[in-house]
Amino acid sequence: MKVLRSSIVTLQIVPPDHRRGYPICDLWNPPPAILLSVSPDLVPIFQHEYRALRPRAPMPPFHVRFRRFTSLNTTIRLRQGEIFVSLSDLLEGAPESVLHSIAHILVAKLYRKPVAAGHNLRYRRFASSSAVTRQTELIRHARGTKRYFGPEGRYFHLEEVFDSLNTRFFGGLLGRPDLTWSEQNAKRSLGHYDAAHNTIVVSRVFDRPSSPRYAIEYLLYHEMLHLKHPIKSRGLRRCIHSAEFKADESRFPQLSEALAFIKRL
Ligand SMILES: [Zn+2]
Repeated sequence: MKVLRSSIVTLQIVPPDHRRGYPICDLWNPPPAILLSVSPDLVPIFQHEYRALRPRAPMPPFHVRFRRFTSLNTTIRLRQGEIFVSLSDLLEGAPESVLHSIAHILVAKLYRKPVAAGHNLRYRRFASSSAVTRQTELIRHARGTKRYFGPEGRYFHLEEVFDSLNTRFFGGLLGRPDLTWSEQNAKRSLGHYDAAHNTIVVSRVFDRPSSPRYAIEYLLYHEMLHLKHPIKSRGLRRCIHSAEFKADESRFPQLSEALAFIKRL
């Protein structure tokens, strides 16, 4: 008898070159695609497909969640007899028939069973549909592109700002990651730290003579706190702004002025 104690299967929704990099935080202006964190409605779909594939096996507990800003991958994992599913945020709003196909494909792959052609076809049609392409673009945009434009703006030099913050707030102890202005005047993603590329990206919208220095400092300070407080996993949920993070953030002297300025952007 084949016993699967621990196993993981990943389903890629988009080609690998679309999966590079993502911001850990997306300040102040979350993208319009607000995604669910837990989805009890999906559990029966998985149970149904599990039963169809494994008619006599006992039904394991299912934990199904949508992931937000973490990956474009959908993952199924078997751990100590329980099944954990992380659905890419691309699947939010997918028709129920497509969710059935995805559940079927994931469970089949997990147990190394053949994937039914109909399910495969329905999933492929969905994944290449224009709605998914649009959603991918939105998410990619929210996550920021990985192009590097350098720290030197027209009015502010990010390395200079970083170094002064490092001295003032971190005792000069933070290693400087790559710093870059964004390509465009993005208002949706004002700043993000991309751990995969060790890069802080700041929206070019701040590189203006009318931008108060404290606003840029605050934005960079926030991203620097992501360096100081790496992401902690709590089960399948990722804790992005921890209590320690927020306590540190509140120590920024012009916090309220900076937030007020950002709101007016
Ligand atoms: Zn953040």
